[in-house]
Amino acid sequence: MDSVEIATLVSTMRENFESGLTRPLEKRANQLKQLKRMFTENESKFYLALEKDLGKSEYEAFSTEFGFCVSEIDHSLKHMEKWASAERVSSPLFTQPASSYRVPQPLGTVLIIGAWNYPILLTISPLIAAMSAGNVAIIKPSELAVECSKLLADLLPQYLDKKTYSVVEGAVDETTELLKCKFDHIFYTGGEAVGKIVMRAAAEHLTPVTLELGGKSPCIVDSKVSLDTAAARIAWSKWMNAGQTCVAPDYIVVEEAFADTLIKAIIRKIDDFYGANIRTNKDYGRIVNKRHSARLASYLANQNIAFGGEYDENERFIAPTIVKNPDPASDLMQNEIFGPILPVITVEKISDAIPLVNSRAHPLALYLYTKDSDFEKEVVASTTAGNMCINDGIMFMANPNLPFGGVGNSGIGSYHGKAGFDTFTHYKSVMKRATFIDPSIRYPPYTDFKLKMTRKLL
Ligand code: NAD
Repeated sequence: MDSVEIATLVSTMRENFESGLTRPLEKRANQLKQLKRMFTENESKFYLALEKDLGKSEYEAFSTEFGFCVSEIDHSLKHMEKWASAERVSSPLFTQPASSYRVPQPLGTVLIIGAWNYPILLTISPLIAAMSAGNVAIIKPSELAVECSKLLADLLPQYLDKKTYSVVEGAVDETTELLKCKFDHIFYTGGEAVGKIVMRAAAEHLTPVTLELGGKSPCIVDSKVSLDTAAARIAWSKWMNAGQTCVAPDYIVVEEAFADTLIKAIIRKIDDFYGANIRTNKDYGRIVNKRHSARLASYLANQNIAFGGEYDENERFIAPTIVKNPDPASDLMQNEIFGPILPVITVEKISDAIPLVNSRAHPLALYLYTKDSDFEKEVVASTTAGNMCINDGIMFMANPNLPFGGVGNSGIGSYHGKAGFDTFTHYKSVMKRATFIDPSIRYPPYTDFKLKMTRKLL
């Protein structure tokens, strides 16, 4: 699409919103059911696209993308009516007789910019929220997940009303053109640098943004821990999707005296999960492209590799790799890894993990494995992170009642379940006053008596 086509599309979509097409609840529900049909009638196409883009196994494709989208649709359909109803609030004495309430209203025409690592989920999940809240939406899937972008551009118009939901495929040029247009909300998932570009462009139109960014998510592992379970959960959440998960544990912090025991336990799990020949194991994914493979391979130069380290940039393969005590100034520790390399940082005592974590930008996720409830309380109270999970990896994502989003450099805003509905909703505050009485106390001429009464009432 060129710049004129994009500008025309956005203005047409704005007109379509104004005409009220997406406001009725039945219409929203109908379109969500259509979206569900799109999934159920094309399940194998999604698996194929995800396999081609990221080497995802069917199990991972279902459990981390397809199944999530379908259950998010079901969750919205179940709760949407309640979410969309006006909420009464009390009215203070001074305003009586009156009734007050908050009416949820769609924001309008919204732009959703998706990322490549979970290319279906990260594009469709915000779309579900936007649809439930009654918005018109334009979605821009990530061009790096080529097959998934094509599939969404092909299927969505077949199932959804083209007047109210539209797909724009493309890369920087198309996104830049989209960002020149006025939207009522922009929902962006991706890296920090582009997040700033999005926010700058949004500022031109005073458009609110949700930024779902990333960063280095720490994983603190106490020696008082269920070792086998912790190792399994760490390995699962790190090497799922070959480490290309925004909430994957980026690095481990562990006591020096316990580090080798933990590393050995994690290696055992890698072996259990993927066997001796990881390269040919269908359950282990691929890096999205050669550029990212080369970036990850470069992180391994001059590192103390405790396990793995093999890579093949042409095959986009990087083995599950553990690096012990990397140089804090190295690229591996300065950048979000977003790949299958797990640094293990050692500290003298586990409480030293807290200042270490706090010395870095606020992460998207923080993980803590411990059986010590005092230490657990201390970590919860004295660290800042978008989200936290205790004694597991990314499982918190599976609870639609937990809003998901970052804080500080890891993002602005949140979604999932009701939080997603709220993100795409304006709560209009409404007060209705009775007219059968109208005391003159608030009207001039102001007298001492009126002031005295007002002081009492306010
Ligand atoms: P990406 O390259 O797919 O970019 C994201 C989107 O931004 C794409 O749609 C792309 O077209 C667009 N884009 C790229 N350059 C642009 C530019 N110059 N101007 C305008 N738009 C542009 O994804 P990425 O940035 O490589 O994603 C990786 C990052 O995303 C990681 O930091 C990861 O942690 C984060 N992430 C966060 C979440 C989350 O839910 N918080 C989920 C996935 C990924």
